[in-house]
Amino acid sequence: MRIDIITVLPELLESPFQHSILKRAQNKGVVEIHLHPLRDYSTNKHRTVDDYSYGGGAGMVMCIEPIAKCIDKLKSERTYDEIIYMSPDGEMLDQKISNQLSTLKNIIILCGHYKGVDERIREHLITREISIGNYVLSGGELAAAVVCDSIIRLLPGVLNDETSALFDSFQDGMIAPPAYTRPADFNGWKVPDVLLSGNEKEIDKWRHEQSLERTKQRRPELL
Ligand code: SAH
Repeated sequence: MRIDIITVLPELLESPFQHSILKRAQNKGVVEIHLHPLRDYSTNKHRTVDDYSYGGGAGMVMCIEPIAKCIDKLKSERTYDEIIYMSPDGEMLDQKISNQLSTLKNIIILCGHYKGVDERIREHLITREISIGNYVLSGGELAAAVVCDSIIRLLPGVLNDETSALFDSFQDGMIAPPAYTRPADFNGWKVPDVLLSGNEKEIDKWRHEQSLERTKQRRPELL
């Protein structure tokens, strides 16, 4: 998979992709991440990419030209399955969307700033708009990192234990059961006996019951 991210703040996105699972995924060649500094596509010598809002009011708006120039260049090099704009009013990211995006080959993610982008970009160039929650961030970079992380960990060969993503919360419409590790007894706080029993069938049954119980209590809308 290839992900192209268009941003005015590439520095903000460097670290999330340089560690742990996301780094390993790139080293293994499972995913390629390309950051495109939007200012490189500015059409003026001051390298600006925003301008005042028509109709007045506070806040700058990101201009069409640099964004269109960058997207056109990328599109001339390969075909994209989706051109995504991170936006608080987009469809809300969930595991289903991440699963679906993880099956795509090439995607572009556009990060907004200021008041957001000129509406005509959304009308004519963007194929999908994604929000990471009902709150407003100052820019789309952290949201893009969240989307990328949730997609990349699903790509085959990224997680060490191939099946482990299958048991994550939401993957089967339920949230994950509680997990424990050593010591089995910490000052009287004990690990449930069944997990120490070695009886796989009983353990699976217990985990399933716990998942169901937690989902009912915490996320009944998933059931
Ligand atoms: N004025 C806009 C918010 C702009 S916030 C509004 O009220 O809708 C600046 C940028 O941050 C947006 O263009 C978007 O790319 C990003 N952003 C902010 N909140 C976000 C969220 N919840 N999910 C995804 N992207 C978000």
